[in-house]
Amino acid sequence: MHFIDVILPIPIQKTFTYSVTEDEANFLKKGMRVAVSFGKTKMYSALVLNIHQNAPTLYEAKEIHQILDEQPLVNELQIKHWQWISKYYMCSLGDVYRASLPSAFLLESETVIYKNEADIDTSILLDDEFLIYEALHHQSQLTIHQVADILGKKKVMPTINELIKKSAITIHEEIYEQYKPKLVKYVRLHQNYTSDASLNSLLEELSRAKKQREAVLAFFQLSTSKKPIKAKDLEEKASVSSSILKSLVDKNIFEFYHIKTDRIHFEGGTNDLKNLNEFQEVALAEIKEAFKEKEVTLLHGITSSGKTEVYTKLIQEVLDEGKQVLFLLPEIALTTQIITRLEVYFGNQISVFHSKYSMNERVEVWNNVLDNKPKAQIILGARSSVFLPFSNLGLIVVDEEHETSYKQFEPSPRYNARDSAIVLANIHKAKILLGSATPSLESYYNAAQKKYGFVELNRRHGNVQLPKIELIDVKEKQRKKEMKGHFSDRMLKLIQEALDEKEQVILFQNRRGYSPVVECKTCGVSPECPNCDVTLTFHKFKHELRCHYCNYQRAMPNSCGACGSNTLDTKGFGTEQIELELKDLFPDFKIGRMDLDTTRGKHGYQKIIGAFEAREIDVLVGTQMLSKGLDFDNVSLVGILNADTMLNFPDFRAHERGYQMMVQVSGRAGRSKKQGNVAIQTYNPFHKILQQVSTTNYTEMYKEQLQERWQYKYPPYFRLIKITLKHRDYNKVDIGVNWLFKALYSSFGENVLGPTAPAVSRIRNQYIKNIVIKIPPKQNLANTKNQITKIRNTFEAVKDFRPIRFIIDVDAY
Ligand code: ADP
Ligand code: ZN
Ligand code: ZN
Repeated sequence: MHFIDVILPIPIQKTFTYSVTEDEANFLKKGMRVAVSFGKTKMYSALVLNIHQNAPTLYEAKEIHQILDEQPLVNELQIKHWQWISKYYMCSLGDVYRASLPSAFLLESETVIYKNEADIDTSILLDDEFLIYEALHHQSQLTIHQVADILGKKKVMPTINELIKKSAITIHEEIYEQYKPKLVKYVRLHQNYTSDASLNSLLEELSRAKKQREAVLAFFQLSTSKKPIKAKDLEEKASVSSSILKSLVDKNIFEFYHIKTDRIHFEGGTNDLKNLNEFQEVALAEIKEAFKEKEVTLLHGITSSGKTEVYTKLIQEVLDEGKQVLFLLPEIALTTQIITRLEVYFGNQISVFHSKYSMNERVEVWNNVLDNKPKAQIILGARSSVFLPFSNLGLIVVDEEHETSYKQFEPSPRYNARDSAIVLANIHKAKILLGSATPSLESYYNAAQKKYGFVELNRRHGNVQLPKIELIDVKEKQRKKEMKGHFSDRMLKLIQEALDEKEQVILFQNRRGYSPVVECKTCGVSPECPNCDVTLTFHKFKHELRCHYCNYQRAMPNSCGACGSNTLDTKGFGTEQIELELKDLFPDFKIGRMDLDTTRGKHGYQKIIGAFEAREIDVLVGTQMLSKGLDFDNVSLVGILNADTMLNFPDFRAHERGYQMMVQVSGRAGRSKKQGNVAIQTYNPFHKILQQVSTTNYTEMYKEQLQERWQYKYPPYFRLIKITLKHRDYNKVDIGVNWLFKALYSSFGENVLGPTAPAVSRIRNQYIKNIVIKIPPKQNLANTKNQITKIRNTFEAVKDFRPIRFIIDVDAY
């Protein structure tokens, strides 16, 4: 008897054992997928972990349905990495499995399939595949069960896999944009004209259709290269329009055909790397020196010091050794800016991987990495690219390592991509470089403790000085009546000066919408979200109220819902209001806005960043999106309109983050020629963080914050595990959380904080309660987690508590 242990893509800790035949056992390898049934009706794509001969003792092993892969889809290094993630972040291997693979690889009985928008050449389909493809012309979607009915057999996953591979179908994914296959149109001669004799008569025939004749002649010239001929190239060569080609096709002289091309395709890679300046040279040498002893090195390089150029040199060396490189970036930074920069050096050795790519694009990158293809030697990716099937990593770069978006909140696994990348590098015996102008306290501390190597780069490229930063006291300005709307006279003057010089301006306001609170002047009531415990934000352009937590929206009412008076007033301001004020103040200039509302869709960021680069926008207003690694050469002023909102929220990282955000956004000013300006409006100019921002004094900020972290027992000294309970019934959560607190308290005493309700204590009708467990430096982490798991199991064994959602977040943010 032969058996396999598999991971199922579900949040259950255990692996499951199925039986296989001897032939299957001989064929199967760790990391291949098999289709198995689970429960009464469910079918999943499971991943093989072990192949053995020990029957399970507690249940009778079911047979597998079928084998889905011919080669392992996941390698052993990945499985090692998954095991670490599952243990460290206290989640199931199934959760990691589900998060790691593009969903096309996780077909299950509930999966719904659709036809792709563009038609494909059906001659590449096998009979069964064609049947399904045809069926999708008559019916917009099919479940896997329906597919089984149509084909009259149970084992249909391979057929569906093939259809996905051939770009014929896609599976449903709400969050991603519809996939459009990129098909390139080619031209060939119709089979009537393959002999020379027929060719001569053809040219004769066309003697009066001059354009068509030219197209045919051009076709022959191009054919000498023996490569397929693109319709576009032919049009260009013959200087004819596409309608000429079309008429030749109608006459059965030419025919069109399609070849699927990879969507992710770069030309070139022709440019040499830039020569490093003397400071960058030193930094590079120091990094290499540090790597001799340390696996991890932190590069603290001020904004615009040219960290990217230093990375490229390291990358080149690793590529020369024949190894793969992973370059991690926050999602938003993955705009063409950085892609283009690396592309001119490394050309088609780069593949890009992020969540705005369609399922099929992600499948493509996965396969290219798995096969270690030449075009997948450098992966440029966001958080989830740590899950790709690397076999031979030599270097990982984590750019903007302080970014909180490296931490995943929802769903599980709640991993930090930076920390997971460090472990990944370890597994590959690769080096890892963390880079930032404003490192996280954790990383800087690790460097200070000599756990990481440490290198500094303190000069901007071209010796441009860091921007001049001034603080503007809004309280004082209001007293002197020197405010116009939300702008101080000083800020307006600086904007005007920049615009007069034909320079560009970035204005930062970390709230979107028009105003975050609407309030009745008569009774003081504010409209709130019916699903969440939060006031609704007014969006003026659409004249509606919106919840930024659940997306609830409704028209802005004319009168107060509570007392009926017409005295609704708005309080506070967001990016939309700033944009409108600016349009009034500077009617001759083009004002743009970049926030979540204006950047939806795959090319959302791109359009705005592109327009700003092309100087079609003079003043760009935006949220923190603007602070992430963008490089504009004509921005001379950065304005921060309300620094206080960033500093005054109740979170132990608020000050650190405020510092990082402000220094990063300031760093967008004066990058190429002369020194830039930064103006920060605040009610509290003596706030120590603002003082530290105004002198870009990272070390002072670090020392002060570190002291507070020690005093109040926070990271990097103490580790945090946050437990969140959620349920629609307030009492249920309340009783549950009190029980849990007592249980945890009896194990960990004073180090358990809570239970508390977060600032927004109900979201989407779920009441939320938190407990935080602090883990002192010397306390054994594994034991602590085991103890928490035990308590969790007891909690979930209580029938009343079972419906409560129990969320564990290790190293919570
Ligand atoms: P950082 O990532 O440290 O903020 P960048 O790598 O974006 O800095 O560099 C800032 C700008 O200076 C970029 O436009 C970059 O092309 C340019 N630059 C940096 N180093 C060099 C160099 N050695 N030679 C030419 N240009 C450079
Ligand atoms: Zn009222
Ligand atoms: Zn809501």
